[in-house]
Amino acid sequence: MTSPDPALAPPAEPSPYASALEQLDAAADILGLDDGMRETLRRPRREFTAHFPVEMDDGSVRTFSGYRVQHNDARGPYKGGIRYATGVSLDEVRALAMWMTWKCAIVNVPFGGAKGGVLVDPDRLSDCELENLSRRFISELEPIIGPDRDIPAPDMGTNARVMAWMMDTYSMGHGHTVPAIVTGKPVEVGGSQGRYEATGRGVLFATEEIARRRGDALEGLRVAVQGFGQVGSVAARLLSEAGARIVAVSDAGGGYHDSHGLDVAALAARASERGRIQDPPPGADRISNAELIEIDCDYLIPAAIESVILDSNAERVRADVIVEAANGPTTPEAERILLERGRVLVPDVLANAGGVTVSYMEWVQDLQSFFWEEDQVNRRLSRIMRKAFAEVWERAETRGLSLRDAANVVGVDRVVRAIELRGIFP
Ligand code: GLU
Repeated sequence: MTSPDPALAPPAEPSPYASALEQLDAAADILGLDDGMRETLRRPRREFTAHFPVEMDDGSVRTFSGYRVQHNDARGPYKGGIRYATGVSLDEVRALAMWMTWKCAIVNVPFGGAKGGVLVDPDRLSDCELENLSRRFISELEPIIGPDRDIPAPDMGTNARVMAWMMDTYSMGHGHTVPAIVTGKPVEVGGSQGRYEATGRGVLFATEEIARRRGDALEGLRVAVQGFGQVGSVAARLLSEAGARIVAVSDAGGGYHDSHGLDVAALAARASERGRIQDPPPGADRISNAELIEIDCDYLIPAAIESVILDSNAERVRADVIVEAANGPTTPEAERILLERGRVLVPDVLANAGGVTVSYMEWVQDLQSFFWEEDQVNRRLSRIMRKAFAEVWERAETRGLSLRDAANVVGVDRVVRAIELRGIFP
């Protein structure tokens, strides 16, 4: 292997970027990639940091730090969300950008991978401050983004409202409306039907596909979902509509457990826009997020943040199947423990790819100014997700790989092929 670059040295464990590199190395070993190609894939093509001022409601000015990492664009324009969170770091954004590259390649949408983030707690900003921050950050990114260059989207802490501000700001600077500059917008301003539910719906499809292959009936399946935001609440609701029994859910402050099953439709209807569960479900026990990971269930769906299944708790995970709806919820060491214990893990780059898949559809609709019905979007999403799942499964079966290694092999291989076909210029 090539020697580590100190500039790329990840911070203290658990570092998402270190996890992403370890996963890439495993795929590169299986594919037999040479050192030159490995180095190309290990390093993001471009990293952008901005420290920018935002005017607060009391008239004071605060400086925020934000990042955009563009990992690889061999297969198409850079694509990936922007998150607002207190834990945002360059290390994390690098990992998330790399995962976007593989994710887009696995579902075979013509995008590369990027990610952005601002170090901020959005809950502590007023609407006006959030708008000021969003408009200023997208202005900072203006030189490196564009509808055929790099297309942001929502991620943790951002939503359709934020995308509308970003689209408007970019458009004002260009003298005309440019809807394809971001995806995940409200439908009234060029968003796609079905985009809000897309990641959660994709998680449902991934869960159906793994359950079918294992011979697990969805009817009565005991599922625990960590996180009740756009991804977790939709996945929980759709799974419960499909017959599963949702035995535990949680938000950032903790969760609820009821072995008889929770009424997730009612919980979702009352949850705040930021994914906070408002009223305690009657008869449920209060649990912590750490307890949810270890709860007695058949399928566990981490749908919140990264690094929640660690080497310290992987031994106590009771679920047979883990479907990663969040990005990077399982560290490589924890995954080794889970696999040794015979658990099956459907990786993030496959399980949560529904969001970017419908982002692709939104982008296409914006470029054509021709909009589709929701059932058309959902049918296409189902086809794309199930095909990607089948390709990953087939690779895992024929090569004796874990689903993570198989997914990464499929994704990395497609990116490598594009790099080789394009060649190096100049
Ligand atoms: N933030 C989402 C993800 O992690 C969606 C990205 C997008 O739609 O571009 O996949």
